[in-house]
Parts: sequence; C-alpha cells; structure tokens
Amino acid sequence: MGAFTKILLASICVAFIAFKWNAPSFNAESLRGARVLVTGASTGIGEQMAYHYARFGAQIVITARREKVLQQVVEKCLSLGAQKALYIAADMGSESDPEKVVEFALEKLGGLDYLVLNHIGPSPFSMWEGDVEHVRWLMKVNFFSYVQMAWKALDSLEQSKGSLVVVSSLLGKMPSPFVAPYTSTKFALNGFFGALYHELAMRKSNVSISICTLGLIDTDSAMEKVRGVTDVPAYPATDAALNIIITGATRQPELFYPWFTQIVTLSKDWFPPVTNYIIQNSYKYNP
Ligand code: NDP
Repeated sequence: MGAFTKILLASICVAFIAFKWNAPSFNAESLRGARVLVTGASTGIGEQMAYHYARFGAQIVITARREKVLQQVVEKCLSLGAQKALYIAADMGSESDPEKVVEFALEKLGGLDYLVLNHIGPSPFSMWEGDVEHVRWLMKVNFFSYVQMAWKALDSLEQSKGSLVVVSSLLGKMPSPFVAPYTSTKFALNGFFGALYHELAMRKSNVSISICTLGLIDTDSAMEKVRGVTDVPAYPATDAALNIIITGATRQPELFYPWFTQIVTLSKDWFPPVTNYIIQNSYKYNP
C-alpha cells in the first residue's frame, strides 16, 4: 500500500471517529409521550420502529395497506408500553390517502413530534425491461406520497419543534443493477429532502430533517429478493430501526447504517472504476 493511500485511509478513520465522538447523546426519556407517525409499519423496519417507539412510551400512529397486520402490530405496541397506538390502513399510491393519514394522526394525537416516512411499494429485482408504468407508480408510492405527507405535517412539526425522518437507501446515492425504478425513487427522495433541509435551515425553522442511508437489512422482502443472488451481508432490522429513531431524536441530518455505507458512498466518487467493478461483480448473473 502506497504512502498516499495509507494517509488517506488514516484521515478517513480519524474524521469518522471525530464525527462519532461529537454526535449528540440520545435521551430515551425524550420519546416518552412523543407523538409519532410511522409509515410502512405493518412489517420490516417500520414494524420494528413501532416496537421501539412503544418501548420508549411514545404515542404512535402506524399505517400501511394491510389492516389485519396493522391491528396485530398495534396490539403488540400497547403490550410493549406505548401510551397510545392506533392504525389507519392506506394506500400510498392513491392521490388522497397520504394526506388523510397525516390528518388522522394530527387529529388522534393532537399534533406530531415525529413524522417517520419509511414505506415502499413492491418492485421487482430484475433488469429493467421497459415497464414505464411501474416506474411512474413507484414514484407515486415511494416519492410523491412522502412529499405530500411532509407538507401536510410541516406546520404541526414547526409548532412542536419536531422532526421529519426519511428512510432512504445506499441505492439512493449509488445506482445499482436490478433495481432501476427503486433506485430512482430513493435518489428523488435524497434530492428533495436534501434541498428542503437547506431551506428549513435558512428559514431558521424549528423542524429537523434526518435522511437515513441504509445498506442491506434482513427484512423478509429484501431477503426474498437477494437470496442466492449476492453475498453482501444483511444487517438486523431491529438495530436499523433503533438507529433511525436515535438519529431523528438527536436531530442529526444523516444516518449511515451500517457505518461502512458512508465509506462506500465516498468511494463511488473517489474511485469510480473500482466501485463499478465491485458493484457489477457483487451479483451472481449469467447473461
Ligand atoms: P418492507 O417491504 O418490509 O415493508 C414495506 C412497508 O410498506 C410494509 O409495511 C408495507 O405494508 C408498506 N407498503 C407497501 N406498499 C404500500 C402502499 N402502496 N401503500 C402503503 N404502504 C405500503 O420494507 P423494508 O422494511 O425492507 O424497508 C423499509 C425502508 O427501508 C424502505 O424505505 C426501504 O427503502 C429502506 N431500506 C431497506 C433496505 C433493506 O435491505 N431492507 C435497504 C435500504 C433501505 P403493506 O404491504 O401492508 O402495505
């Protein structure tokens, strides 16, 4: 390894440790009674977030499409210690449901301290074969509904000095094969909420925005897609969920989970040929 590479790697490590050292500390008590809306909470990371918020004694509204599953998650939240747990079934591909969900949460909780946007519509894990309609629909579910809900909740979050938490992906910073429609929606989220982050800061708004960049997480839906196709390690959904909650509660602008996703994001710009080679060879594919 050359001297330059050693110095570069050492500098990255020092910067990373300094950054972590200065991160604000998390006070679990701050979430007791907090009014939280979590989307995509019938399963996966959203479901795990609902359980963590419940253990912290928050008041929660959860949403997704499947009413029966939501009902079960709400029951578990109450048994874990949630001060309040309610659900509303909604389809984020509809024009009106995203706003209805926020209205429901505002009415039932009397305002919002946290809006956690996490849902995604199902999308195939395969080479893109020209299904334009699917891209349009996925944009609606994974992106436009986030924009609608954020706008609807903004006044309440302003009053409560609240937080807007957006669950994004490493694939929203680094395009990857087999997921072109999904990747596009995550890039759109990063662009929109990245811009909004600046605008709120410039207006001296009370609202914090946290954008969460996740690597591969072991949820059923993700594992079904990548099993046998890649050896990239998957990280636990419950731990990802807790890290997202802490990032929102401590009002940090960004989360990278697992930690090395930050290095991968940097390497994409610093060493494009190497990163491209790694991306294209991390999947088992025979044309
Ligand atoms: P899941 O597929 O496990 O859960 C998706 C959730 O969204 C479910 O609750 C589902 O419930 C809901 N949903 C699906 N379609 C709709 C719809 N049309 N309207 C309303 N709700 C809908 O996702 P994960 O837990 O794996 O991912 C959660 C977040 O983490 C996403 O934003 C994802 O991009 C991000 N992420 C995940 C990674 C991973 O490897 N798992 C990696 C990087 C980022 P229902 O079917 O009942 O509607």
